[in-house]
Order: sequence, then structure tokens, then C-alpha cells
Amino acid sequence: MGRLNGKVAIITGAASGQGACEAEIFAKEGAKVVAVDVQIDLLQQVVLNIKSFGGEAIALKLDVSSEEEWKSVVAQTVEAYGKVDILVNNAGIVISNNIENCNLNEWNKIQNINATGVYLGTKYVIAEMLKTGGGSIVNISSIDSIVGGSSSAAYAASKGSVRSLSRHTAIDYAKSNIRVNSVFPGYIITPMTEAQLTDDARSEYIYSQTALPYLGKPEDVAYGVLFLASDEAKFITGTELVIDGGYTAK
Ligand code: NAD
Repeated sequence: MGRLNGKVAIITGAASGQGACEAEIFAKEGAKVVAVDVQIDLLQQVVLNIKSFGGEAIALKLDVSSEEEWKSVVAQTVEAYGKVDILVNNAGIVISNNIENCNLNEWNKIQNINATGVYLGTKYVIAEMLKTGGGSIVNISSIDSIVGGSSSAAYAASKGSVRSLSRHTAIDYAKSNIRVNSVFPGYIITPMTEAQLTDDARSEYIYSQTALPYLGKPEDVAYGVLFLASDEAKFITGTELVIDGGYTAK
């Protein structure tokens, strides 16, 4: 018996990194996965991999900042599987710049994908969850919304938006049995971060920043997301799960 048997889950940013890992783990736990991303070729590979072990998944193109595409993805999900039980708002981008060097186009781009994308997904999926008596939404924020850092103010602001939206939506929809929780990864090795640090800088980060003596892997976040998405977390809403190797505990 899988931990998500019978559930239908939309996972954004599922072509790569944490989202791809979540798609695989969710399918192994019995969910029907709707994997969405802008990188459609990579997304098809994720779905082929899921089918290779007998899992159920479809790939749909979605730019999370597009309201029309969100409407279409939710409609296609309901057409394919009849409902939406779980939404993981995972898609995100990073632009590293301090505020002076961050131009308005960059600022708008990062807010549109990281913050507006979560708003749109939440809005259109909640409308479906209300029809079927509830669901679980897991939003991926970042420890950058909890602690200060350098050259990431625009990114951190977008993730702060995710944090606040999650708590307030959790309260608004708790009586409708829709749970909304957020997850705060620390440094996780994925395509987003791989190019950012040299090996020396990475060793220095492990030595000076994280408490545990290594960096995170996509599955370290995915298992936290799985728990919050599942009925095991049925009494948990509005919570903030930090998965950072002890970075913010120091
Ligand atoms: P990643 O770059 O491997 O994956 C991000 C995915 O989002 C990609 O597949 C990309 O195509 C997709 N995406 C980007 N723009 C999109 C759009 N407009 N519409 C739909 N999909 C889009 O990175 P990751 O590390 O797996 O990141 C997953 C989430 O975790 C992100 O929200 C990120 O901000 C957050 N996060 C990552 C770290 C880390 O250290 N890797 C730390 C904290 C938070």
C-alpha cells in the first residue's frame, strides 16, 4: 500500500532537480502524477522513467506564470484523472544580484515565476479541491526567506511571498479540509545550484554553514514534501518545514 494510493498530484518544475525527484517518489507511493514544466523534453524523460517501473504519470507543458496555461493544466488533469488531491508548487528560478544590480525586468521575472506562479496554481487548484472535499498543497519556499544572505534579495523576496501566502491560505481554507504547508530547503545539490559554487567554495560552505557535514540531495526535500502531501500529515496545516542540514539552527 503506497502512501499516496489513489491520489492525483500536480507537481510543477518536475523536469529537473527536486521536482523530478518528487514526481518519481510520489509515483512510487501510488500517486497519479501530473508532471508540469517548461522543459518539455526533460519532462517526457521523467514520465518515461515513472512508466518504466509501472507508475502512472503524464507530462504537460506549463509556464507557471501564465494564468491561461494554469487553467488548461487543471482542466486537463481533471479530464485525465477526475480530480486534484495534491499540488506541489515547486517550480522556481534564481537570479543572483544585489538590489542595485537587479533591473526591473529581472525583478518582475523572478516574482512572476516564484511568487505569482504559486498564487495562480493555488487559486485554480483550490477551486477543484473544493469540489471533492479537500486536498493538500505544498509550497516550496527557501531558507533565504528566513535568514539574510548576499546577492539574493529579489529571490528571497519572492520566497517570502510564498511563505506568507501559504500561511494565510492555510487559515482561509482549513475549514474546507484543504491543507497548505511550506517547505524551506537549504543548499540542495540540483541543476539550480550545481553551477553556482566551485568545489572549494562548496567545501567551505559545508565547513562553515551547515551543521550536518554534507549538502542536501533532492530526496532529502522530497521525503518531507511527501509527508506533508500525504494523509499522514492530516492535522498539519500552515506549518513551515525547514530542511537545511541545520543551517538555520546555528
Ligand atoms: P531546478 O532548476 O533543478 O528545477 C527547477 C525547475 O523549475 C526546472 O525544471 C525548471 O525548468 C522549472 N521552471 C523554471 N521556470 C519555470 C516556469 N516559468 N514554469 C514552469 N517551470 C519552470 O532547481 P531545484 O533546486 O530543483 O529547485 C526547486 C525549487 O526549490 C525551486 O522553487 C527553488 O527555488 C527551491 N529551492 C532550491 C534550493 C536549492 O538549493 N537547490 C534551495 C532552496 C529552495
